Amino acid sequence: MNTHLAKKFISIDRDFIWHPYTQMKDFEHKDPLFVERGEGVFLYDVYGKAYYDTISSWWCIVHGHNHPHIKEAITRQINILDQVHFAGTTHEPAIRVAELLREFVPKRLSRIFFSDNGSTAVEVALKMAVQYWHHAGFSEKNTFVSLEYGYHGDTIGAMSLGGVPQFKGPFDALTFDSIRLPAPYCYRCPMGQEKGECDIDCLNPLEDILKEKRDQIAGIILEPLLMGAGGMLVYPETYLKRLEALIKDKEIFLIFDEVATGFARTGEMFAFMKAGVIPDFLCISKGLTGGILPLGATLTTEDVFNSFYAEYIEGKTFYHGHTFTANPLSTAAARASLELFKLNPIVESVKAKELILQNSVKAFMDFPFVGDIRGIGMVWAFELVKDKETKTPFPTEFRAGWKVYQEGLKHGLILRPLGDVTYLFLPQCITKRQIEDCLQRLWTTFEACKKTFSS
Ligand code: PMP
Repeated sequence: MNTHLAKKFISIDRDFIWHPYTQMKDFEHKDPLFVERGEGVFLYDVYGKAYYDTISSWWCIVHGHNHPHIKEAITRQINILDQVHFAGTTHEPAIRVAELLREFVPKRLSRIFFSDNGSTAVEVALKMAVQYWHHAGFSEKNTFVSLEYGYHGDTIGAMSLGGVPQFKGPFDALTFDSIRLPAPYCYRCPMGQEKGECDIDCLNPLEDILKEKRDQIAGIILEPLLMGAGGMLVYPETYLKRLEALIKDKEIFLIFDEVATGFARTGEMFAFMKAGVIPDFLCISKGLTGGILPLGATLTTEDVFNSFYAEYIEGKTFYHGHTFTANPLSTAAARASLELFKLNPIVESVKAKELILQNSVKAFMDFPFVGDIRGIGMVWAFELVKDKETKTPFPTEFRAGWKVYQEGLKHGLILRPLGDVTYLFLPQCITKRQIEDCLQRLWTTFEACKKTFSS
């Protein structure tokens, strides 16, 4: 596209469009990245410049952009059935994807409820859990335990359980309370302990909570092993094991939000599999379609399903549904994506790539402003600090993460940060050579930032 036309489009964007998670005033000084097409792990802007899709287009791309198998599935499906309501109807793509997904999850998760994004997959789990206890005669079990720095989506219910203060600020009056546990933020341990040398003491408060409030708790929700939006906080598998032991036989649902961690991003098909702790509810989305079309799903147990299974007049119907629930195109894409998981050793390849990343990123600790490096599978994060010794953050107005992002764009990386956490959330399909190239570019980016950061 020529520059004149591109500028014209950008000015229409600036005049009319409001972008998510964006301070629109930033566009006064900086044009948005004007993306034209995607291929594999690359996005290309309208001027033809290639960028690694370093954050997998908001944590969803799995097999790469424009994948022929997924593209063909969607194209085939659009000629047959594009959209239909999912109440009282069904269709082959939904059935096929459910049948396939069953092969990838433990038998205990025997029921699937489709929706159309990650927040709704979470809302469904919350509502099912509360309604289940209501059916059982325990209507007072309607509170959830959630984590500081947790993130479960931007709808009011999912946001109520989120623990990232800046996302919630003005909405206090609208959100409902949950019982908060300190986050397993190992670099800044809430219990004052050293990373890797603890007995998961950050779960100690749960013991008292269970003694005092067990009868009010419907469930506990968390992102297993990797808390994404809270700053890519990676925590050990033993956390999940201790949690499971603490709530065993306490009649509290365990809800895992694997919207971001699912589909091999962490080195197992689902992160909970690394710990061998199976939840009562599993919320998935993003990578379910390979990241190509919107779809969400909530998986749960036969016990939960049976609680809703009754004559219509008994009022146990689950009154929840979205227009695009199980959309035929999205489910066709999801089926194609899961077929690729069956055809290719993706989980194994992520394990191998995790080792490469783990070894290579260590060198970045030499940068004076890198305070912590943490990672799992395809996700590696760098917490940028003003003072490494004291772990003092940069002042907010310095916008260190944002500066790295701007510099990264010059080197073909899209390093959209979480505050001052710069991270790679790489597509599972990236090759080893591409990983090396990415890290080389990241090094160059950090080198270029070194001067501004130390002055
Ligand atoms: N849960 C988690 C763990 C997420 O990371 C996200 C999205 N980043 C969501 C829920 C919400 O998903 P969506 O944006 O599709 O509503």
